[in-house]
Amino acid sequence: MKIADIDQLGISELLPSPGGIALALMTACRKENVSIGEITKLIQTDPALSGRLIKKANMASQSTRKITSVPEAIARVGLNAVKQLAMGFSLIDQYQKGTCNRFDYQEFWSHSLLMAIASQELVKSTRLCSPDELFACGLMARIGCLALATAYPERYSKLLEKQSPDSTLAELEKQYLQTNHHELAAAILNNYGFPKIFVESVYYHETPQESCFSEGSRPYQIVHLLYMAKLIADFGVCSASEQSQYTSELILLGGKMSLDTESLGFLIDQIIKDWQTWGELLKVPAAGLPSFHKIINNPIAHSETTEDKSALRILIAEDDPSSLVLVEELLSNVLGHTVFSAANGKTALSLSLEVQPHIVVTDWLMPEMDGLKLTQSLRATDWGQNLYIIMMTGLDDEEEIIEAFDAGVDDYVTKPINIREFRARMRAAWHYRKLQESWERDHEQLKRFAAELAVTNRKLEHIALTDMLTELPNRRAGTEALTKAWSDSSRSNQKMYVTLIDIDHFKRINDTYGHAIGDQVLKKVAATFGAIGRKNDVFFRIGGEEFMAIHLNDDTNAKSAVLFAERLRQHVAALQINIDAFSIQISISMGIAIKEQHMKNEDQLLSAADKALYAAKKTGRNKTCLFIHNKIVDCNHCISQCA
Ligand code: GH3
Ligand code: MG
Ligand code: MG
Ligand code: MG
Repeated sequence: MKIADIDQLGISELLPSPGGIALALMTACRKENVSIGEITKLIQTDPALSGRLIKKANMASQSTRKITSVPEAIARVGLNAVKQLAMGFSLIDQYQKGTCNRFDYQEFWSHSLLMAIASQELVKSTRLCSPDELFACGLMARIGCLALATAYPERYSKLLEKQSPDSTLAELEKQYLQTNHHELAAAILNNYGFPKIFVESVYYHETPQESCFSEGSRPYQIVHLLYMAKLIADFGVCSASEQSQYTSELILLGGKMSLDTESLGFLIDQIIKDWQTWGELLKVPAAGLPSFHKIINNPIAHSETTEDKSALRILIAEDDPSSLVLVEELLSNVLGHTVFSAANGKTALSLSLEVQPHIVVTDWLMPEMDGLKLTQSLRATDWGQNLYIIMMTGLDDEEEIIEAFDAGVDDYVTKPINIREFRARMRAAWHYRKLQESWERDHEQLKRFAAELAVTNRKLEHIALTDMLTELPNRRAGTEALTKAWSDSSRSNQKMYVTLIDIDHFKRINDTYGHAIGDQVLKKVAATFGAIGRKNDVFFRIGGEEFMAIHLNDDTNAKSAVLFAERLRQHVAALQINIDAFSIQISISMGIAIKEQHMKNEDQLLSAADKALYAAKKTGRNKTCLFIHNKIVDCNHCISQCA
């Protein structure tokens, strides 16, 4: 990735920057051979910073020896981390408030602080990098948001109002401000002198799937670790009702870091506790949360309904009867799941097809088909992709376990089964299942929604193009159809003509019988068009009592056009329209125009038909006129003539 140069962004002087000591530290550290003594002196001039650093040094380390002085703290934390921490703390002090209305500065720091602590704690077991450095990364991972709020207070406020589930914050930022908080954070951290690996990890930490780091590499792990820290922070600042949406994903991510649900629960609870301590120290809000450990280890109490939604279908494949009894007992009697059992892989496979279990717990060594083969066979099926498979094994050899994971198992427990551990594994499986269910539900909902949308769109389209009274296509549809017919006929050299139809003295019908009956008459006439029309004739209602017909046919000529029009006219004239006690008779006038060489477009064709209709009205009504070779012909006299 290319990190933008902060000066090129053109807003560098508008960006948040650490003040006072932190700034001096930054400058000092840029010098080549800056001495620890120099740094120590600088820090000691700021009592608040000194106190925080000492606290930080004590908290980050597992050593019991207490640190009480700045030089000791620097020695323990490391110069790089000292500099980064000083900047972070300085920013917190300076940007507790701001002018961007919609931007919640307090919540921003609350989230950042929690993310910092989570990053620090998560990295401790990995040796990926110094926990203090990752603390600083976490603290400033979203500095890009603060930067945008600082540089563009009004525009960013407006943008935050527009936020919806349809687009990510970064997308909105790009759309309205031509940059986003990822790019900006990377540019700022780069400018602050953060090592490249952290800058890049911060850049991708919200969308780890977009980073191209190879799986297992150091940046890959840091990105994923920051992502998990971000989830923990999201979990910490969201409302109680939203919490459950994070738990399952956290458990899955924890699993990838070899944290079972027990350990993960304890870890997150510890992180939240530290958050509160740090919150007080830095004057950043940090809420008390219910124990995460309790939430995830007591899923039933926290699921939305108290109905027994938690029961799962579990299939156990185990050839050793005593082990089978033990697991069966735990799963069905203690945990309340529905349990099926099989004594070898082969039976288990066919039973799986029949009962479609949510979870399969399988022994490794079994006659006929072993656990590995069973796993592979299950994974080869469509529905087996989503199964959660736990392998029970007497082997605790790393190579063997890797083989099991390669075959597709999700988790394993070693024999003899330790009940407490097994329970914890089952909780992970339960959460996995829930996560999957909610995903499937969302997916279903999305599919249904898309289908509904398609139907609605089709309905809307129909409504937009249909006249509701007569159910004929309307004027808009007519205009579109005319354009299309014109270009079709030009392309294929097909003949075409247009007929305009207008009911004679329709105003009188309204005046005599009322508007409602007028409507009925219109409907009746429209229905007649449908009944008399030929396969290739389409009628449109283009005005109150005005209609248009388009005719596209190979054997169209003036004679066939006129004959058809006359048949229609006579038919309408002969109609007895009976409505209520009235028997109503009407007539229509028509103007026909045939597409001719000299016509440039469909408008000219239509205006020719209009001229013919006008002539029909002018010369007595209840008649058809034809526009042909730049002349108007009265068809009452012309049937033989125009043949
Ligand atoms: P002409 O033979 O010259 O066409 O006479 P006309 O009365 O049919 O023509 P004009 O254009 O003067 O009047 C059309 C009438 O059609 C006026 C209006 O009251 C009536 N009209 C238009 N739309 C509707 C409708 O949707 N329902 C009803 N009942 N009447 C309509
Ligand atoms: Mg066995
Ligand atoms: Mg009219
Ligand atoms: Mg009329």
